[in-house]
Amino acid sequence: MAFFSSYASRSLLRRLPKLLRPSPLRRSLCAAAAGVERGGGGGASSAAGFFVDGAPSSMRGVVFWEPGRPLAVEEFRMPRPKAGELLIRTKACGVCHSDLHVMKGELPFASPCVVGHEITGEVVEYGAHTDNRIKERFPIGSHVVGAFIMPCGNCFYCVKGQEDLCEAFFAYNRAKGTLYDGETRLFLRSNGKPVYMYSMGGLAEYCVVPANALAVLPNSLPYTESAILGCAVFTAYGAMRHAAEMRAGDSVAVIGVGGVGSSCLQIARAFGASEVIAVDISDEKLQNATTLGATHTINAQKEDAVERIQEITGGRGVDVAVEALGKPQTFMQCTKSVCDGGKAVMIGLASTNVMGEVDITRLVRRQIKIIGSYGARARQDLPQVVKLAETGIFNLQKSVSRKCKFEEANSAYEDLDRGKIIGRAVVEIM
Ligand SMILES: [Zn+2]
Ligand SMILES: [Zn+2]
Repeated sequence: MAFFSSYASRSLLRRLPKLLRPSPLRRSLCAAAAGVERGGGGGASSAAGFFVDGAPSSMRGVVFWEPGRPLAVEEFRMPRPKAGELLIRTKACGVCHSDLHVMKGELPFASPCVVGHEITGEVVEYGAHTDNRIKERFPIGSHVVGAFIMPCGNCFYCVKGQEDLCEAFFAYNRAKGTLYDGETRLFLRSNGKPVYMYSMGGLAEYCVVPANALAVLPNSLPYTESAILGCAVFTAYGAMRHAAEMRAGDSVAVIGVGGVGSSCLQIARAFGASEVIAVDISDEKLQNATTLGATHTINAQKEDAVERIQEITGGRGVDVAVEALGKPQTFMQCTKSVCDGGKAVMIGLASTNVMGEVDITRLVRRQIKIIGSYGARARQDLPQVVKLAETGIFNLQKSVSRKCKFEEANSAYEDLDRGKIIGRAVVEIM
């Protein structure tokens, strides 16, 4: 409780005059600072109530307990950020296939955990001893977007600028479900049981995010649609910029045009692709791909995708093919779709130990490049991705096909699993 009262007395009283806006949280904070009772109700007031009553504060989060068990909304103690971390009042969180892999037990992850890893929200607090330059970059009340790869900033790869290979992220977050001191920030309200974090554990009313994973979201961009910037668009950008090293005029094929794949279409256009070929087995998704800039579509259930790609490209294949499904068959299709010297970029995750096959002799003689790409580099790429959305080069509105409520998160994942979500679903939190 000291953290909120000190936060209220120091940070807030100092910042309130210039940042005062009529949000419920801030109204309550003013009341708290003035020592008067709060009047408002609603989602955010549970946090604000803490300031007033001195009672333990709490929030709600969506918990994955074990494979086969539906996600459940649980009460949590209010999470506490540590140095270099920000407490974010989550506004929206995208529904991504990576979470589904965890929920289905296809990718091992610490449980129970809060899934959700592409978020937008509002900065409400800093961890103690957080650098002033971080506070200047992300003032209290500022809108932010979070990248799912949260770089530590100091490991071997982060120092080299390859934040998408951050050792701490993989060793702590992906392997243990914690932040980089080896601890989670999430504990159940009832018994204090630790709950692990898939990235920042975004499907909760508040989340703790290392500052290195955040970028400022301009007020012109909406919270809901912008949530997808932190994974779907971020991943597409990383694949095109760093893995494919795309150049204007390149021909591109994207195999699997769901959330991340359909983002690849728009990013490929942004990098100046000549042909953009969308491959899927759903006519609905292919129709949607056309509105996002695909110049050609192929339904791989009705036609031979590799043959069609060669036909479209004068018999040579594309300069860049992206595989966004993580299946052995499409992995092979992807390598066969590229021209000699072309780049086959793999961004689809598969279950542990799933193998892909490749024609070795063609790989060798025709200099086929197979490149894995997981995400992008938060500090250099996320601000660029935000700019693409801000300028309208990347159309967020067209990419988000469904908005749902916090309580509907489980059914959104069920629909994602059944292939019923055409673009991206986003959970609106408050
Ligand atoms: Zn994702
Ligand atoms: Zn690192």
